[in-house]
Amino acid sequence: MDHPPAQRPAPPPAGEAIRQEQFLTVLPRDEALRRFVAALDPKPVQPERVPLDRAIGRVLADDIASPSDVPPFDRSGVDGFAVRSADCGEAGEANPVRLRLNPEVIACGTAPALPVMPGTATPIATGGPIPRGADAVVMIEHTEPLEEGTTIHLRRAPAPGAFVAFAGSDIARGEALLRRGTVIGSREIGMLAACGIADVPVYRRPRIGVLSTGDELVAPGAPLRPAAIYDANGPIVAAALAENGAEPVSYGAIPDDEAALDAALRRAFSECDGVVLSGGTSKGAGDLTHRLVARLGTPGIVAHGVALKPGKPLCLAVCDGKPVVVLPGFPTSAMFTFHDIVAPVLRILAGLPARTEAQVQAKVPVRIASELGRTEFVMVSLVEREGGFVAYPTAKGSGSITAFAQADGFLGIDALADHLPAGATATVTLLTPHVKAPDLVILGSHCIGLDALVGRLAERGFSARLMAVGSLGGLAAARRGECDLAPIHLMDPATGVYNESYLAPGLELVPGWRRMQGIVFRPGDPRFASRGAEEAVAAALADPACLMVNRNQGAGTRILIDRLLGGARPEGYWNQPKSHNAVAAAIAQGRADWGVAIAAVAEPYGLGFLPLGEEHYDFALASERRTKPAVAAFLDILREPETRAALQAFGFRAA
Ligand code: AMP
Ligand code: MG
Repeated sequence: MDHPPAQRPAPPPAGEAIRQEQFLTVLPRDEALRRFVAALDPKPVQPERVPLDRAIGRVLADDIASPSDVPPFDRSGVDGFAVRSADCGEAGEANPVRLRLNPEVIACGTAPALPVMPGTATPIATGGPIPRGADAVVMIEHTEPLEEGTTIHLRRAPAPGAFVAFAGSDIARGEALLRRGTVIGSREIGMLAACGIADVPVYRRPRIGVLSTGDELVAPGAPLRPAAIYDANGPIVAAALAENGAEPVSYGAIPDDEAALDAALRRAFSECDGVVLSGGTSKGAGDLTHRLVARLGTPGIVAHGVALKPGKPLCLAVCDGKPVVVLPGFPTSAMFTFHDIVAPVLRILAGLPARTEAQVQAKVPVRIASELGRTEFVMVSLVEREGGFVAYPTAKGSGSITAFAQADGFLGIDALADHLPAGATATVTLLTPHVKAPDLVILGSHCIGLDALVGRLAERGFSARLMAVGSLGGLAAARRGECDLAPIHLMDPATGVYNESYLAPGLELVPGWRRMQGIVFRPGDPRFASRGAEEAVAAALADPACLMVNRNQGAGTRILIDRLLGGARPEGYWNQPKSHNAVAAAIAQGRADWGVAIAAVAEPYGLGFLPLGEEHYDFALASERRTKPAVAAFLDILREPETRAALQAFGFRAA
């Protein structure tokens, strides 16, 4: 479809066209990484010595050999008597051997004064040094005291060396204790302390400056102005740097202002071992970060534009020996490129070994479209099904934070393929070392009421995975056996009855709760305030300046809206967001004047509400899974009075 000429975007100014050309030299991922590594020649930053109490999590810069034996002397492993084993050879139940006690007790930390001569024994505590002459210890339990503690009877013969821990038997002097590159944890600290080491050489953590760029960014904690968003990348990048052995230094969010950004970038560059920026990489007015980076040092930018999706606008530079990276602005793209390309190089600077990535094979239940010519990475959530894993793409796109945060891993689609067919098997690289299989899988339409139930389920020790795939997506997954419960709210347009007619054989309907739907509007709008719903819609339709916001095709609410409109197509009809929240936000921010949403969102957005009718939010359940413990617990919780009260607090009515 063509746009009318007036809506065509103006041609870009010449300067911008030149800048955009830089994207035409998009490099394959491996080539971009190769150039980055070649220009940087990454090596661990110089080592430093840190005391043990600051060594946790650091990376050893040298092999460590033990300077001493552990234990430092032969010592007793039990409370008992140090003896000469040769004296005791004859001992048996019927034939006790009698030993005279030497006049000392060897406590822990006491050096023995007297030798153990033939026919004698010395009382010794666990950890006490074995006295000269003795070569074994008998446990106190295997002896009987005689003659007021001056003599003992022995009814068992100890083998030579019994209960003696010999000097150096744990750690021998000179033995290699820990290797370079080891990440120091409590166990390593224990070994170092046991052989008397007070400080260790570790790689200095590379200090990496973190900058976010964009006029729209606001630091978390500050109020959000209109059209602004919170700086998510700054904190994410800082945390990911720390996870990969670096010391992040935050320089905050800088507006798209050449002078301000240049000053912040130069400061970060001079104070740190490298800089990671995000944003300002895509075409448009904000595209200045890479120009500033290019001027920072030599050789400068080695790759700008990488054939990766998400992550094409990634910019890699090496300036006077320091890495400078500009991550794409979208958080998922930023994270993906960070983990794929930046983290491996940073780990070398930090002296850390390469991260080992676990992979699993999984079936992909739906077709995934992909762009030809770019290796496309798709975040997926895994669910376990009989016979293996199923990988659901997290359908939120690269602008989403949750796409990365909630995914279990990602799969790659070859640059030469334009899609991955439904039913294909793919290799999933895990973001965490292990797949955590949840006890309960819930795929379908999301509702805040569900969060309350899942919270109560967690208190009983059952984990749940919730994936918002919409009512129809949930039903399809339930039919394929990929979930336990599918929350749905679908109205049959023919009968007006919710959910029943959508069940496939083998699925049953578990009643959930009722959500009052109604017309939402800004309070005080005379077209709606103190009117009935029908009357309000008539007033809205009569006013050509009144803008509606619709819902997506397939939503139960959409059917209700179409019924209300009775064939009318007012302004705003084609604006079709997919959630009640999006409808409420559009009206609260003045981008639309009315729409239909549930009462539970009207209140938090400060909107007026004219009730229309209740929507049924129920659960499709595979009948054979009813007895699964997590399902049974969920069904119990659903019926509890506390749950009904919690649902009521959200404005819902338990069915
Ligand atoms: P840019 O690369 O600056 O063109 O940004 C691309 C998209 O990512 C825009 O929607 C930005 O608002 C968004 N974005 C850029 N930086 C950040 C950030 N630090 N946190 C969250 N979103 C961001
Ligand atoms: Mg920007």
